[in-house]
Amino acid sequence: MATVDHRSVSRFLSERARRIPPSGIRRFFDLISGVEGVISLGVGEPDFVTPDPIREAGIRSIREGHTSYTSNYGLLELRELLSEHLAARYGVRYDPHSEILITVGVSEALDIACRAVLGRGDRILVPDPSYVAYVPAVVMADAEPVMVPLSQRYEFEMRVEFLEPLLSPEVKALLLAYPNNPTGAVMPRHELEKLAAFAEEHDLLVISDEIYDRLTYGVEHTCFPSMPGMRERTILLGGFSKSYAMTGWRVGYVCAPADLIEAMMKIHQYTIMSAPTAAQYAAIEALKSGEPYVQQMRAEYDRRRKVMVSSLNEIGLPTFEPKGAFYVFPDITPTGLSSIEFVEQLLLQQKVVAVPGDVFGPSGEGHVRMCYATSMEQIEEALERINRFVHRL
Ligand code: PLP
Repeated sequence: MATVDHRSVSRFLSERARRIPPSGIRRFFDLISGVEGVISLGVGEPDFVTPDPIREAGIRSIREGHTSYTSNYGLLELRELLSEHLAARYGVRYDPHSEILITVGVSEALDIACRAVLGRGDRILVPDPSYVAYVPAVVMADAEPVMVPLSQRYEFEMRVEFLEPLLSPEVKALLLAYPNNPTGAVMPRHELEKLAAFAEEHDLLVISDEIYDRLTYGVEHTCFPSMPGMRERTILLGGFSKSYAMTGWRVGYVCAPADLIEAMMKIHQYTIMSAPTAAQYAAIEALKSGEPYVQQMRAEYDRRRKVMVSSLNEIGLPTFEPKGAFYVFPDITPTGLSSIEFVEQLLLQQKVVAVPGDVFGPSGEGHVRMCYATSMEQIEEALERINRFVHRL
C-alpha cells in the first residue's frame, strides 16, 4: 500500500485557494475576544438592530409558511420595489424581470459579478485602499487586480490621471466603490463624469459597489449607472446590510443589462439557488417602510462622525472629513508608528481596537480605520484613550 503523507493536507489545495490573501482584519478580532473593557472601532457593521417593522416582516413570513426557495432571481415583489426605488431615487431604470437579481448580500453580488466577467488573463483596476474582499474576489475569478493608489491629498478620489498609466490591453474593467470603505470618501459628480468618459473611451466595464449609497452626509450620492451611457456598461452592486442595519439577514442585489444578469444568474443558481426567503420578505418591508429609520440612523452616524473628525484632528492625527459610510481614516504618521504598530500598541495599552490601513491595500499604510458605528459614549471614551495613547499620557 502506498504511504500517504498526512502531515500536510495543504498539498490538496488548488492554486486558486493558495493565491487568496488571508484576511488582515480577523486577526485583530481574535486578539480581543474575551478581554474585558475593550472598545471596538474595528468591525464595519451598524450597532443598531434591524428596525422593528422589518424584523416583524421577516418573522411574519416564516409564520405564514414562506419557508421554501424563492425564484432564483428573488421575489418578484422585491425586484419590482427595487426597480421603483432606483428609478425614483437615482433616475436609473432596471427591468425587474430580467435586470435585477437578489443575492446573498453584496458579498455574493461581488463574487458572481467578478466570475461572470473576469477570467484568466483579465485585469481589473481596483482602488487602493479598498474593501478587503475585492482582491480575493478578483483572484477567485482567476483574474488579476491592478491596484490604483489613492491618497488623502486627493481625498481618496479615483482620478482619471491615476488610471491612465495603469491601462494595458488586458484591463477589462474598473471597480468603483463610493461611498468608500475604508476612507469614507464620496466622489463628486463632476469627477465621476470624467471616469465615465474614461470608461467609454477605453471600453471598460464598471463594477460599482454602492452598498453605502444611503449613508452620505451633506452630499448627494451619484449612482454610477445613472450617468449618461453608463447603464449599459455597469454592474451595480447594492444591499440592505448597512443602510437598514441588516447585516445578518444576508440580502443584496445586482442590477445590470439582461445579458450580464443572465450570466451571473447561471453562477448564482448553481451555487446559491436563492437568497434567504425570510430575509427577502424583510427587505421588501425595508423598502416599504424603512426610510424614517434610515434617516434616524444616518443622523446619529453624522453626529458621531463630526465628533470623531474634530477630536482626531485635535489629538494631532490629521483626519480627512469623510462624507459617507461610517469610517474615519486618520493619518497616523505624526506618531512615527507604522499602521500595524499603532493598532497593536493602542490595543495593548488602551484597549481600543482599530484596523491598520494596510489591510485595505498598500496605500492604506500610514492610516488606520476606525468605525463609528458604535455608541457616542463608547466613541467619547475611545477618543480619550486615543488621546492618552498618542500623547503618551
Ligand atoms: N462592500 C463593502 C464596501 C462593504 O464594506 C461590505 C461589508 O463590510 C460589503 C460589500 C459586504 O456587504 P454584505 O453584507 O451585503 O455582503
